[in-house]
Amino acid sequence: MTDAPVRVFAAPGRYVQGPGALDLLGELLRPYGDRPFIVWDAPVRRLLAARLARVFAAAGLRPVLAELPGEITYSAVEELLDARGADADQVCVGIGGGKVLDAAKAVALRVGAPVVTVPSIASNDSPASGAVAMYDDDHVMISVDRLPRHPDLVLVDTRLVAEAPVEFLRCGIGDAIAKKFEADACAAGTGSTPVGGRPLRTAGAIADACYRTIAAHGVAALAACAGDQVTEELEAVVEAVVLMSGLGFENGGLSLAHGLTRGLVRARGASRAAHGRHVAWGLLVQLAAEGRPAGELAALIELHGRLGLPTSLAELGMPDPTGAEIGALAELTMAAPHVRNMPAPVDAAQIATAIRQVEELAVR
Ligand SMILES: [Zn+2]
Repeated sequence: MTDAPVRVFAAPGRYVQGPGALDLLGELLRPYGDRPFIVWDAPVRRLLAARLARVFAAAGLRPVLAELPGEITYSAVEELLDARGADADQVCVGIGGGKVLDAAKAVALRVGAPVVTVPSIASNDSPASGAVAMYDDDHVMISVDRLPRHPDLVLVDTRLVAEAPVEFLRCGIGDAIAKKFEADACAAGTGSTPVGGRPLRTAGAIADACYRTIAAHGVAALAACAGDQVTEELEAVVEAVVLMSGLGFENGGLSLAHGLTRGLVRARGASRAAHGRHVAWGLLVQLAAEGRPAGELAALIELHGRLGLPTSLAELGMPDPTGAEIGALAELTMAAPHVRNMPAPVDAAQIATAIRQVEELAVR
């Protein structure tokens, strides 16, 4: 599809967000049959088992439950398929973090079933997306598979997000804040989007709203989350991080900010930093590589500072990077297909120069 001159927009069937929204899950799953297949993990089971048992019983559901033991690998998906057995209904429901949601999507992909995602944290853009990130046993991402159809339903209980550690929301903000600039870069050049083809203007509008929501309410939302409070600012930022961020990247395209994660997952120290922190720093490098005015870069560095997002490699766990390390980071980045979604082509030398430029600005 990507070769045809078409423009595409794809999205989840329904999005439901609010404090206590989890209590609606039973009712919302009823149309899919009374034996939904649920994927969760041990922390979610400990946190929510009793409440979910009540929610499911009240709706007359007898779910088939399976735990994702760790990393989302193809062999873990085989085990989930075994656990699902023959008597579960078609729908696959993931309740938890990004890996659990992607595990439910991976099972659904194998059996051709509809998907429901119920994020328990807002740390990334997986819930509303049709992408399935697969890893090997060493926690290195090996492929991104795609669902033929987006999740039927995304259900976000903002009280769960508020009560989760604030660092998760900060990572979600880091992943989301780049989407406007990545969509703009993709549209300005000749790039294509994950759902195929060139971006429609709709995607740019959503990615722009995502950025403006974070810039206006991000700091207050983090404070609300740190205090376990659901506020209007938290609601706004959760919508930006889960819905707008997902719609923005899939329909608007990714660019250099995400491309840099290819190198960062293999870099000294930085490999252990969360995806959202990689992307937030990568955004600064993208803007430098685009040759944006210094004032624009400085304003974003200031916003990153207020949001507690990294502005230097040291803050990602890679202090005093050598020239060779920066060079290797740039080379690995060039392997990412998103690098082609820039306003003008960039090479490894330009990326390395942009990294050094951000390192210098961040020190000031
Ligand atoms: Zn991302």
